[in-house]
Amino acid sequence: MVYSSTAVRPARYLRLPGPGECELCGCSPALGVTFRSVRGLAVMHRIVTVRATLCRYCALAHGRERTARTLVAGWWSIGAFIAVPLLLVLNARGLRRAAGLADPRANDGIASYLEWPLDPGRPVMWRAAILGPLVPLFAVGLLVALALGR
Ligand SMILES: [Zn+2]
Repeated sequence: MVYSSTAVRPARYLRLPGPGECELCGCSPALGVTFRSVRGLAVMHRIVTVRATLCRYCALAHGRERTARTLVAGWWSIGAFIAVPLLLVLNARGLRRAAGLADPRANDGIASYLEWPLDPGRPVMWRAAILGPLVPLFAVGLLVALALGR
């Protein structure tokens, strides 16, 4: 075999993630998911939406984070209070779809934001955020007790 120092090796180009590949880490399989969180701000509320094609781990990470934030911060305005149950149901549906995906498999030649999928973290049921709904319940209970105590 003859090696030539003048041989030109083709440059290796990276491509963006395509259909069925995670927009964050480039792994596959991936699917289109939407997760939302709501934050009550007294008389206003703010809804944050994450809509992307994500692999299993990245989708679980985003879905769990949005759900946990909603459980903690979603109770502090009338509009947000009404939106919380709907968003929790929609996020749970998205999380169930994401959990049905196979484990992410790395693809070569993709320019992605992350080298590895996100850490999905603990399920929402095992996070302190699951206690978030107790705070407004406690506040309402305290107000009722004060009103009845008079
Ligand atoms: Zn990913």
